[in-house]
Amino acid sequence: MTLAIVSAMREELAAVLDLMPDERREVVGGREYWRGHLHGQEVIAVLSRIGKVAAATTATALIERFGIQALVFTGVAGGLDPGVKVGDVVVADAFLQHDLDASPLFPRHEVPLYGRARFATDAAWTARLARAARQALPGAGFHQGLIVSGDRFVSTTAEACALQAELPDALAVEMEGAAIAQVCADYGVPYAAVRTISDRADDEAHGDFTRFVQEVASRHSAAIVEALLA
Ligand code: SAH
Repeated sequence: MTLAIVSAMREELAAVLDLMPDERREVVGGREYWRGHLHGQEVIAVLSRIGKVAAATTATALIERFGIQALVFTGVAGGLDPGVKVGDVVVADAFLQHDLDASPLFPRHEVPLYGRARFATDAAWTARLARAARQALPGAGFHQGLIVSGDRFVSTTAEACALQAELPDALAVEMEGAAIAQVCADYGVPYAAVRTISDRADDEAHGDFTRFVQEVASRHSAAIVEALLA
């Protein structure tokens, strides 16, 4: 059984790669896939790069080319729900593309020809990832629920408020998760995702994000992955 560990940014994946003693590099579609072991588990670690298309391409290559049996995403996100603070951890129950709008042909947010807007994560892997996150970061606030994705770095208070009003149960916003959820649903591959909150998707988001990614994102991702596979 091969598990894929995916992150969008170098800072997020760096410390995970440090945990792999034997990784070998394979380049496919311009991306570096690192195949090796982590606590004895066969793993492929990869940077998807940022955004939904980059994430979907990466997930497809992992499934078609590398034959992975499960995919775990670890990274950072902006907090949307008022209770979700910088440094908190959010594990996704489901994903939705907040920028998808084929109305009036299809209801707002619905993925055309799928008949739904929300894609659930795998229950068993999500429970396992939630346990790992709580164990790895016991001091951090923990949340589980809906994460929304779109091809936009949300960095104004006005936009964050609009998203919250439109999708009141959304806990956090990022740029990849829903694309991977759709690909994994297409192929029947179990998917789970965890995001540490780097910013509040508001007018301060850019500064908060940059600081957080440099200082803690990598350590958090590695700690959670380590707890997941220990
Ligand atoms: N490197 C650029 C852009 C990073 S994009 C910069 O330094 O500004 C932000 C990345 O973190 C994406 O991979 C996304 O999934 C996540 N993310 C964190 N906060 C976000 C927010 N407020 N809105 C959207 N994505 C966010």
